[in-house]
Amino acid sequence: MTEIDRHESTDVLIIGSRCAGSAAAIGFARAGRSVVAIDRAKFPSDTLSTHVNFPSAVAELQAVGALGRILAHDPPKCTHGMVEADGVRCLQRFATVDGIDYGICLPRPELDHALVETAREAGAEVRERTALQEILWTGKRVSGAVVRERDGALVQIDCKLLVGADGRRSTVARLVGAERPYRGSRNERGCAFWYMDDPLVGTEWRERLIQLRSGTTHALIFPCPEGRVMCLFMGPAEDIPRYRKDPEAMWEAMLDANPAVRVRLGGATNFSKLRSTGDNVAFHRRSSGPGWALAGDAGHFKDPIIGQGIRDAVRFGRILGETCAPALGDPKALDAATRAVEARRDRECNATYHWGNRESRVFGVSPIVQEALRDLDGQDPPLLLHMFDRVQKPHHVLNPLRGAKYAARALMRRGADRPAILREVVEEARIDVGAWREELRPRFRNTRLTASERGDYVWPPRTPGTTTPEPPADRAAGIAADPTAGGAADAAAAPEPAALT
Ligand SMILES: Cc1cc2nc3c(=O)[nH]c(=O)nc-3n(C[C@H](O)[C@H](O)[C@H](O)COP(=O)(O)OP(=O)(O)OC[C@H]3O[C@@H](n4cnc5c(N)ncnc54)[C@H](O)[C@@H]3O)c2cc1C
Repeated sequence: MTEIDRHESTDVLIIGSRCAGSAAAIGFARAGRSVVAIDRAKFPSDTLSTHVNFPSAVAELQAVGALGRILAHDPPKCTHGMVEADGVRCLQRFATVDGIDYGICLPRPELDHALVETAREAGAEVRERTALQEILWTGKRVSGAVVRERDGALVQIDCKLLVGADGRRSTVARLVGAERPYRGSRNERGCAFWYMDDPLVGTEWRERLIQLRSGTTHALIFPCPEGRVMCLFMGPAEDIPRYRKDPEAMWEAMLDANPAVRVRLGGATNFSKLRSTGDNVAFHRRSSGPGWALAGDAGHFKDPIIGQGIRDAVRFGRILGETCAPALGDPKALDAATRAVEARRDRECNATYHWGNRESRVFGVSPIVQEALRDLDGQDPPLLLHMFDRVQKPHHVLNPLRGAKYAARALMRRGADRPAILREVVEEARIDVGAWREELRPRFRNTRLTASERGDYVWPPRTPGTTTPEPPADRAAGIAADPTAGGAADAAAAPEPAALT
């Protein structure tokens, strides 16, 4: 029996106070509900994540009221997005989403702190250095939790709704029996990134969020405040141990392999330490149940290659608060509301989830993609950026008509590898059929594998090359409680290699 030092109660208890947790706290608090949000971190605090926010994400930060605090850090306002594949470039200006026509890249300590402060301003109580200890049940319903404060005090907090906004390794998900995803996809790419002084301060490059493709690795380059810039390489996950072993050699190897990166960042100085992970399994978990809900990455994770996680964590955190606040007095209505939010999240996110799975395959520069970039370059409306901005779904932008046009153009080019192009057409068409079918006939908690998903992911995820893989996930078991499953190895905790200088 746990010795409790204090006993409290609140309408909503939220575990985790970054993107999803703060946004949910804001949604509930603005509706006049009492909210306690805890986090074991002390803010400002970093986390293993890059942080590009396209205009639709900036609009979400605006919707929760955090944008003023964020802009106070003076992040470059990036009005343009660019994708280049082996010299074929598509540069477009972002469309306006809810009054926002620029993206930003503010590091997580400042971004998350702005969200926490906004939640406090909205009336939520955010307690730092406080960790979830155990969940309390009344019958089959979650009715509170025991948390441990920084001085070791154990506090029992009764609540009407417990929200797990505690990230991919969610303890709440584990304790309510939802830890094992019911659907997911093995990621084939790893992430390795540095910050550095931007050699092109004062030029138009500071207004561009760019992706440079060459070989099998994508380089993503995002300007940050104070003349800094972030460079993220997403290549085969198997390469991650090489980055960790010798970051300097890998940096040079990447500049050699991708001349466009050298043009953009050659001569950069004052490198941060490398940060890396090879563990990015995309997944969906059951995200609602009696007296509980999961928000943000705790419930659903998409591959970071498309940079959508912060937007969705903030958006659906806020929506969870706004939708469920009026139902807190009625358990049945509350459970229906949390379930409705889960269904809405999946309806809005699934096309992007499939796109992330698609991009997280390791493939060389595609001649079909190059044709698309040639065609879309400079276009208004900016169809390419619409995908990043959630204005249009990826399979709507790259629809069968455009796909056929680009494939035909690629096939007609002199020296084209026609069998390879035709194989790509077949593979992409299969993925599209899955995305269209899911859109036209959505099913709640769909467990049917679609062509975008590599169902042979391991669970819990492991960083390639550092641990022994576990057997493939049993998809059917995803619905069952799995109280024995522990959290995955946190790649953020991996020893850092020597800093580049
Ligand atoms: C390598 C990488 C790069 C990425 N790049 C981008 C990008 O460029 N753009 C983008 O939009 N998204 C990106 N993402 C995704 C983005 O990081 C997440 O979608 C986002 O952080 C989700 O926010 P969250 O609030 O759900 O969870 P998190 O940010 O993970 O926050 C969870 C919080 O819960 C707290 N917590 C956990 N357990 C407990 C506990 N037991 N008790 C108390 N507190 C607890 C943690 O301390 C943490 O503060 C990236 C992800 C990765 C892995």
